[in-house]
Amino acid sequence: MAKLKLAIYWAAGCGGCDVAILDTKEKVLEIGQIADIVLWPIATDHKYEEIEKMADGAIDVCLFNGGVRNSENEHLARLLRAKSKILVAFGACAHLGGIPGLVNLFTKEEVFNCVFRESQSIDNPNEVFPKPQSSVPEGELSIPEFYNTLLPLKAVVDVDYYLPGCSPAVPQVVAAIDAIVKGDLPPKGAVIGASEKTLCDECTRPKEDRKIKKFYRPHEIIFDNKQCFLDQGIICLGPATRAGCGNPPRCTVLSNMPCRGCYGPAPKVHDQGAKFLSALASVIDSNDPAEINSIIAQIADPVGTFYRFGLAASYLRWKRSNEKN
Ligand code: SF4
Ligand code: SF4
Repeated sequence: MAKLKLAIYWAAGCGGCDVAILDTKEKVLEIGQIADIVLWPIATDHKYEEIEKMADGAIDVCLFNGGVRNSENEHLARLLRAKSKILVAFGACAHLGGIPGLVNLFTKEEVFNCVFRESQSIDNPNEVFPKPQSSVPEGELSIPEFYNTLLPLKAVVDVDYYLPGCSPAVPQVVAAIDAIVKGDLPPKGAVIGASEKTLCDECTRPKEDRKIKKFYRPHEIIFDNKQCFLDQGIICLGPATRAGCGNPPRCTVLSNMPCRGCYGPAPKVHDQGAKFLSALASVIDSNDPAEINSIIAQIADPVGTFYRFGLAASYLRWKRSNEKN
């Protein structure tokens, strides 16, 4: 049997998704036996020009992790789309923008000011800011252009499948790779390596649907290790999040921590944060608007909490609706 051609690319992300592939341990060796890796910047020394010279569709599968933050990310997204038969948005950043997508609360200028002018660890007396083109005695230098917003992969190119998670759980990665190798894939556009239920459906913490007058962050309360987090006033995104990180779930059950929502919106949910807001509204123990406001005000950083992984793909997307990239 001819070996598959596999590309793995890391755009605007942290590298954890590449580590999730390495964490498949001996499966990585199996991947090496069944596939020729044509691009994997974290592990191999292939050049972009090699991909550019390939015929369209020459790569069987591309696992693309990270969002699109700059012109290099966009170039590779378009290039790998053209060259790949199957393009998989791998991990929360490619799927929904991920944690780097929270930068969409700020403009490019605000980010540059913070990083290159105001940060306490920066020493930049001449206020040199990155720019795509620079003239130096040796010649012209170019670096990728930094965009005003971070985009999930599907906002730039057509995506065949989504493999969620931050990072995707290793058993799900193994199962998804097996399905790809066997050609045993669902219809285009599906979320693979995950469940068709909400996390609450697969969570084994007993849930009594208690009403809440006070919300806590996990370090502010000695919580019951068995009971549902939301019942104890600890924000847990299980009602709005797709299950599939493990059964039992790896955070709420195996790690005794509330769900942060990295597997993205539950099936048939478009906007994870909005869905969670509606779940939250149903547990607040008050009908008095003033009291409801004071209970909600206890929630630290609502946007960062409800849209930790999905802001860039949400209805909010970025801070000002009239902005262009
Ligand atoms: S999804 Fe998570 S692990 Fe993967 S690149 Fe993004 S931040 Fe890193
Ligand atoms: S809210 Fe969280 S802790 Fe409670 S049942 Fe759902 S996933 Fe489990």
